[in-house]
Amino acid sequence: MTDQLAQESRAIVRPAAANPPSPAPHTVDPTRPARLARRVRAGTNAARFDCLTPFTGGVIATLPVSTVADVEQAYAAAREAQPRWAARSVADRARVLLRYHDLVLRHRDELLDLIQLESGKARRHAFEEILDVAGICRHYARKAPDYLRPRKHLGAIPLLTQSSELHHPRGVIGVVGPWNYPLSMSITDALPALVAGNAVVLRPDEKASLTALRAVELLDQAGLPKDLLHVVLGPGQTVGEAVLDRADYVMYTGSTSTGRTVAQRAAARLVGASLELGGKNAMYVADDADLRRAAESAVRSCFSSAGQLCISIERLILHEWIADDFLKHFVARVRTMTLGAGLEWGIDMGSLISAQQLERVSQHVEDARAKGATVLAGGHARPELGPWFYEPTVLEGVTEAMDCRRAETFGPVVSVYRVGSDEEAIAMANDTDYGLNGSVWSKDTRRGRRIAERIRCGTVNVNEGYIAAWGSNGSPMGGMRESGLGRRHGAEGILKYTESQNVSVQRGTPFKVPPGVPEKAWARSMATGMRLMKGIRLS
Ligand code: NAD
Repeated sequence: MTDQLAQESRAIVRPAAANPPSPAPHTVDPTRPARLARRVRAGTNAARFDCLTPFTGGVIATLPVSTVADVEQAYAAAREAQPRWAARSVADRARVLLRYHDLVLRHRDELLDLIQLESGKARRHAFEEILDVAGICRHYARKAPDYLRPRKHLGAIPLLTQSSELHHPRGVIGVVGPWNYPLSMSITDALPALVAGNAVVLRPDEKASLTALRAVELLDQAGLPKDLLHVVLGPGQTVGEAVLDRADYVMYTGSTSTGRTVAQRAAARLVGASLELGGKNAMYVADDADLRRAAESAVRSCFSSAGQLCISIERLILHEWIADDFLKHFVARVRTMTLGAGLEWGIDMGSLISAQQLERVSQHVEDARAKGATVLAGGHARPELGPWFYEPTVLEGVTEAMDCRRAETFGPVVSVYRVGSDEEAIAMANDTDYGLNGSVWSKDTRRGRRIAERIRCGTVNVNEGYIAAWGSNGSPMGGMRESGLGRRHGAEGILKYTESQNVSVQRGTPFKVPPGVPEKAWARSMATGMRLMKGIRLS
């Protein structure tokens, strides 16, 4: 079966024939960047950088570059504004998110255009970002009052000690985002930080700046008070670093190698950091899985945003009993995927974001091919569609000698591995330094859960690739091992932006031996008290 697939792949059905025409021009209304640039902290004579669209490689706008002095001014203004914001009730702060939720949905077409123009992704993949932002708004607007409310705990001496746990905002949060999700990764980490009573200095990636600025404009419109959220633009190693070096808490999303540097710098200042880093995510299809559903989901999970998604699947682990059947469905579907540079709906996959990404993806595939891997589908760049297009690619026979075996490709390339048992599949899924996302397919959901619980990843989806866990905003999301530190979403995703405090009030007997009582007798009665508390299950 594998040989047959390999043979067919040499006469690959290029998706070009199925490419729909692209009616939309790949441009941005020239008045718009000038308006958006007003939201950037930068001097009037600031240097400028070009925003390119991957659809053509052409310049669609220029935006100002901030300096370290601009970052300092942003922090000063944010520090001034933050205490007034923190003094407002959580419910009041959360209302901004409810209005933002509606604005993002209302302006979705315009946001989708910007996301697509900046990232080159297909519209349906851009739409995942809209859903993500709306979901985060709804979740934290509704749940923040509960996550942040003071909680009473049993005191040291029951009834006489009253202890409560409080959560104070940390101050100003520094957020540095990547380019792959220009809306979602620029704004969703700032939202819980703001609801928790902090101010934010945000440095979106240069390739995500137009979308991020429009997202911030809408947040202003939703009623976020002035000076609570500052945007600075510029290279990560200068402007990004300056933002994180001044933060009261660091929120960073990007590669593991940069994440290590960011973590070291935060540690040197003794400030906390949440790091959302890379992955080499595996999907296991067990012998009893619904193969059609699994194959359809694998297409989305491997090639959403052209695989430039931290939680996308790069390793397909197939039970040997169903491997050929699964591949028949999966490879056939991959070969007929439509690629295109259009703003319309209906395209299956867009472009890579840059020449560097194309270079990395091509290098991984060529290295695997040269060392003997079989290309079951794809395996070529598609310059006739746009300068950085690359086909969705399926490889088999990947070995330890090949770069794509362990390194994150961060592109539309998935490798297939065959196993003989669940145990082997779990060992294979865990055989990586990363631990971000995983997926397990079985019609027996109890078996699926049991396998999932043994995969060492921050999120594992049963009978889904990534959206089930990513979109469940009440549960934490993030990486184990080299995939990161800290979590977004759920209680952890907002409490990390707070300093917790224990305020305990003592009434009556202070902690001392009462007058006239021998110390030994006092100790005996205290020990009896401890046993009693254990006996009546006080905790
Ligand atoms: P990268 O680490 O090269 O850059 C990420 C961002 O950090 C960029 O905006 C960059 O300019 C900035 N940066 C670089 N050096 C910096 C420094 N010293 N201080 C502060 N900022 C700095 O990563 P990339 O290749 O641009 O992004 C892709 C990576 O991000 C992949 O590994 C992907 O898995 C990861 N990612 C992870 C998540 C997640 O949630 N876990 C989400 C998206 C992307």
